[in-house]
Amino acid sequence: MLASTPPAKSVEIVEVSVRDGLQSDPAMASTATKVELIERLLAAGIKRLEAVSYVNPKRVPQMADAEAVMAGVPRPEDVTYIGLVLNRRGFDRALATGVDEINTVVVASETFSQRNQAMSTADAAGVWHDIAGHAAGAGIGTSVTVSAAFGCPFEAALPLERLVEVVDMVMASPPDELALADTIGVAVPTDVYERVAAVAQRLEGTGTTLRCHFHNTRNTGIANVAAAVEAGVRVIDASAGGIGGCPFAPAATGNIATEDVVYLLERMGYSTGIDLGALIETASWMEAALGHGVPSMLSKAGAWPPAAG
Ligand code: ZN
Repeated sequence: MLASTPPAKSVEIVEVSVRDGLQSDPAMASTATKVELIERLLAAGIKRLEAVSYVNPKRVPQMADAEAVMAGVPRPEDVTYIGLVLNRRGFDRALATGVDEINTVVVASETFSQRNQAMSTADAAGVWHDIAGHAAGAGIGTSVTVSAAFGCPFEAALPLERLVEVVDMVMASPPDELALADTIGVAVPTDVYERVAAVAQRLEGTGTTLRCHFHNTRNTGIANVAAAVEAGVRVIDASAGGIGGCPFAPAATGNIATEDVVYLLERMGYSTGIDLGALIETASWMEAALGHGVPSMLSKAGAWPPAAG
């Protein structure tokens, strides 16, 4: 009799420490530090990572070395490098540098969109539609992050109807993946169940997968990951060490830590393909390289059971 094993549940981690993390880190990491961090993440089993940003270097000096970083990293075939682009100029730089995938951002709240990107939500969706056409021609992967998807720092509530409206704006040119970001870290698991279900319904049949990006600003980030995967999301953003956040959102600190997420998911029965022990070592290395502590819990407590880490 053939053994019938159910298909393993797996979750893909998109590692964001090198871009989202270091972008707002006080340490101003050098190109060599970024490349070494990427090498360590790949050695830990990370297969997809946000590595660089092609935004105006005057606005985000920490990310000015995108070309040098991409020239310095190993390029195994099964590893996907993502570059953040916010306009056509950034997209052209991304193409010239040879990243595998571009990510762009559409802010769900009108006020935050104006403050963060100096344009309306509809105009940001328009930028995406323009980039989408060129990306299709270039054969490059695409993802769009809908930020402030769970709440806005300036408008308080971000109604579910508004989120769905913005998702529909984006989906006029369906990206390979759409990410819901809790940019200011206000969501709780009930919000996640509600919003993931509503957005998943809009993506049904389009081929666009759904991903979530949580911040731990109010200590709900890890609970939100649990809710998202239980609601069917299979791609989660996380930042090694838990470094970073958004420099343009007031007090929005606290990306969720990759090691904390990996521990949670593996213990819940989801495989991530990531070596927790190697991640914990990477967190200690980061503390030395950046000259400050990192907020992850697993890097302090260690894995459990002890043999696992
Ligand atoms: Zn983040």
